Amino acid sequence: MSFASSVQSELARVEPEQGCCARAELAALLLNKSTLSQLANDYLLTVEVDNPALGRKIYKYLRDIYGFQSSVQVIEKSKLRKNRGYVVKTVLTPTKLENIKEIIHINNNLISPKLDIAEVNSCCKRAYVRGLFLSRGYVNRPEGNYHLEFMVNDEALAIKVQEYLGTFDIDLKIIQRKKSFLLYIKESEQIADFLRVVGANKALLEFENIRILKSMRNNVNRQVNCETANLAKTIDASVRQTEIINNLVSTGVIDNLPYQLKELAYIRLDYPEATLKELGEILNPPLSKSGIAYRMRKLEQVAGELLDTSFN
Ligand SMILES: [Zn+2]
Repeated sequence: MSFASSVQSELARVEPEQGCCARAELAALLLNKSTLSQLANDYLLTVEVDNPALGRKIYKYLRDIYGFQSSVQVIEKSKLRKNRGYVVKTVLTPTKLENIKEIIHINNNLISPKLDIAEVNSCCKRAYVRGLFLSRGYVNRPEGNYHLEFMVNDEALAIKVQEYLGTFDIDLKIIQRKKSFLLYIKESEQIADFLRVVGANKALLEFENIRILKSMRNNVNRQVNCETANLAKTIDASVRQTEIINNLVSTGVIDNLPYQLKELAYIRLDYPEATLKELGEILNPPLSKSGIAYRMRKLEQVAGELLDTSFN
């Protein structure tokens, strides 16, 4: 099961915090996925979802909150991919239709928000966001690029949801996609916060574990790169120093050097791969890294001057 599907399945099973929260969640769930059509004297409310647990949740909410008796139909969306859909169908008498209109606007069979996130009790707001995410949401697996999104059809609602999530320091971005509004988060810590807000605790744990592994791996890579860079620097310096010293030896200028510099020159030739610190440890008595660096600079400087005069 993909990460997105397991988040969906987990959220579909989350019990509402309180009775009122179930109503808020249902209001959000019906916004995106439901259609209303007219029968002879009644109406048919159809909600189509991909996840069986979500189908059960909607069925249960309609029954528990409004006493509606629905039927659930399984449809084969694609035989090859074993892709199934679940359709919750509810026949509504005109009275029942009025009941459900307390949470959604129905105008010419078009469904829009009525009880929206700004109006529900504060305890219900998480459930409302959960409903929106469940009906039209997606979260990428944490191993890949960090991305979480969900769609709403109503711009005012999109902004209210953005404001609400802002209270958790979640910076939800909104872009318009045709007639819908895509709300998304790209930042890993904020995706984790979102999962916490909507109550996907198991998914949150998995998400955080992978996030930690990823950041550890990044640190190791950074460290390796850093070590490689240092090694390259050591080798560059050694090649330059060895060249100068070979020049000193071949021209005989090396014998004009003070003893300490001459000693260092020969040790450098013997240990071309050693870092300055290691060269300092080879000397007797040993010399600190800064001491050896100073002496090496002196050697290069004096060698430069001596070689210049001997060639001009
Ligand atoms: Zn509530």
